[in-house]
Amino acid sequence: MSTVAPIVELVEDRWPDSGVPHDALGQLVLASHLLGEDRRVANFGGGNTSAKGTATDHVGREVRVMWVKGSGSDLATMGPADFTPLRLDEVELLFARDAMSDEEMVAYLTRCMVDPAAPRSSIETLLHAFLPAAHVHHTHPDGINMFAGAANGEDLVRECFDDEAAWIPYIRPGFTLAKQVGEAVRSNPALKLIVLAKHGLVCWGDSAEEAYRTTIEVIDRAVEFANERTGGQQRFGGSAGNPAGDDVLQAVLPTIRGAVSSERLKLLVADRSARTLEFVSSREAPEVVTVGAACPDHLVHTKRVPLWVPYDPASDDLDTLRARIVGRAEQYRADYRAYVEQCRDADAVPGDPDARVVLIQHLGLVAAGTTTKAARLSRDLYHRAIEVMAGAQALGGFVSLTAEESFAIEYWPLELYKLSLAPPPGELQGSVAVVTGAAGGIGGEIVARLAQLGACVVGFDLDGEGAVASVDALGERGLAIAGDVTSEDSVRAAFNAAVTAFGGADIVVSNAGVASSAPIEETSLAEWSRNHAVLGTGYFLVAREAFRVLREQGIGGALIFIASKNALVAGKNAAAYSSAKAAELHLARCLAEEGGSAGIRVNTVNPDAVLQGSRIWGSSWRAERAAAYGIDEDELEEHYRKRTTLGVHILPEDIAQAVIHFASPERSGKSTGNLLNVDGGVPAAYSR
Ligand SMILES: [Zn+2]
Repeated sequence: MSTVAPIVELVEDRWPDSGVPHDALGQLVLASHLLGEDRRVANFGGGNTSAKGTATDHVGREVRVMWVKGSGSDLATMGPADFTPLRLDEVELLFARDAMSDEEMVAYLTRCMVDPAAPRSSIETLLHAFLPAAHVHHTHPDGINMFAGAANGEDLVRECFDDEAAWIPYIRPGFTLAKQVGEAVRSNPALKLIVLAKHGLVCWGDSAEEAYRTTIEVIDRAVEFANERTGGQQRFGGSAGNPAGDDVLQAVLPTIRGAVSSERLKLLVADRSARTLEFVSSREAPEVVTVGAACPDHLVHTKRVPLWVPYDPASDDLDTLRARIVGRAEQYRADYRAYVEQCRDADAVPGDPDARVVLIQHLGLVAAGTTTKAARLSRDLYHRAIEVMAGAQALGGFVSLTAEESFAIEYWPLELYKLSLAPPPGELQGSVAVVTGAAGGIGGEIVARLAQLGACVVGFDLDGEGAVASVDALGERGLAIAGDVTSEDSVRAAFNAAVTAFGGADIVVSNAGVASSAPIEETSLAEWSRNHAVLGTGYFLVAREAFRVLREQGIGGALIFIASKNALVAGKNAAAYSSAKAAELHLARCLAEEGGSAGIRVNTVNPDAVLQGSRIWGSSWRAERAAAYGIDEDELEEHYRKRTTLGVHILPEDIAQAVIHFASPERSGKSTGNLLNVDGGVPAAYSR
């Protein structure tokens, strides 16, 4: 007989035996970390904690203070400065009122701050203030939210906790909810917890330890109750078939990326964890995914519902799946716009209509965001939703906020304020660039400039260590791939890596180069072939792979070729190099013509004599060019500067600026097949 896994998991009490701080704020920080470290207890950014005590104000007076979590921070990582100290005497006065608007509440609380430099206090501040306990912990735990999100939730809470618990029907956080919580606790001293319908849990205590331990204890009581009640049931009604392989998801990632980037470019995070695969392959998933968010707190990061794409690995081929992804994504946008239209008041500005969570049946979850961090957050919150839905489904059926209730949270100014704390987006935020020859002087500068504007960058180079160094400062936005542009496998691997890490690519800078100089009679076949292999074949292979990804995404893109003055000017004693550069330039123009209808722009930057940091100029090419001009090697920089019309040195950052121009749709969205000389002015290379 096979054993059926429990519907939900127990959580552990992590309160330490020693090292607990003595002061209220120190204990508050510790408890917050413990709650946030287990995402089954407190999801990222969700939940809030407080402590009441005394502090000294700026005049030196002792005042009663409540420290409450500041808006926009996360329990797991917040420090003492992320809590807002408020004058408790002034805040408590509000309990006598009958009503208060959000705007009044925010304005009032701002004036109660002991330190005006502290962050704005949490949306749920009054809930903490009105509850007469020294420590209050409000969380959105899976184990309690499966009750809070079950059709028969109120009955379940009564059965499990009897009169130790109060149930408060759903209402958006604010003055009224805070007052209801305060009144419930004041009128019933035996109360131990409050379950907020479709929302979360409130526990409290005389100490942080007591509030924390009560939180953990009641979650585990709920979990044990649920597992006993549902014993023998399979999560989501059991499996409806085996999941398909990893390779299928990898193959459709660019399609998904294009399908959810209608207004803003998105980065993707793919997830095929065991729980996710179990869910997307289950019998109940197609129905459950339509119900709504598992917690109001998820809404701005996951939207009300995910984009669900039916897929049958046995009968659907890749093209069928791709077409379905595109069609469903379009339908999702139409549905989202209809929801906004149905619920919005005159002031609300409709947000990005694309899905943040994509679920493909029997295949996996793909989260989308304008940053990888945002995409990961959507994924993590959906993991919480899966757990809550598993419990609620088994206990009596998962229910969620209505469309109007969801909208009131998703477009709530106080919720949007949290998002406004993030830094403004860079010009290339959400885009993915692949740069070949990333380890060189020009390549390194191109990588740095693209990253500065917010792009994720895959640095590709024969010199793997050099590529690593080039993307090192980018953190999770950078990826180094060692490889050869003349190898089909290598180039394919680089683009595959971009797809795996970020979901696709938008900007491809072909910059890998070689150079050699010799009179034609002395040019070996090997030398000729090497120039044409790197500058001709290499640019072809990179462009071909780039086109494949860009076409699958279906949202355009930019290819930028780094050529040379020699592509236009007949270079003496450099026929192999110059003719290969000319081929490269013409390839760019041919591809501009070919990519136009798909919005793929192909442009060329034409540098001349960029000696600084260049690997080519560190090679024999330097001596060869000096010899060709009949000068000493150390006279070369000056020789090149003097022969330019502007009389200037050309530096790697000058080339990078030109690349940015062609990479950015904002700057050059209507330019293709173009050539931009960055050579200080060389009359022979003026295009005509
Ligand atoms: Zn909450």
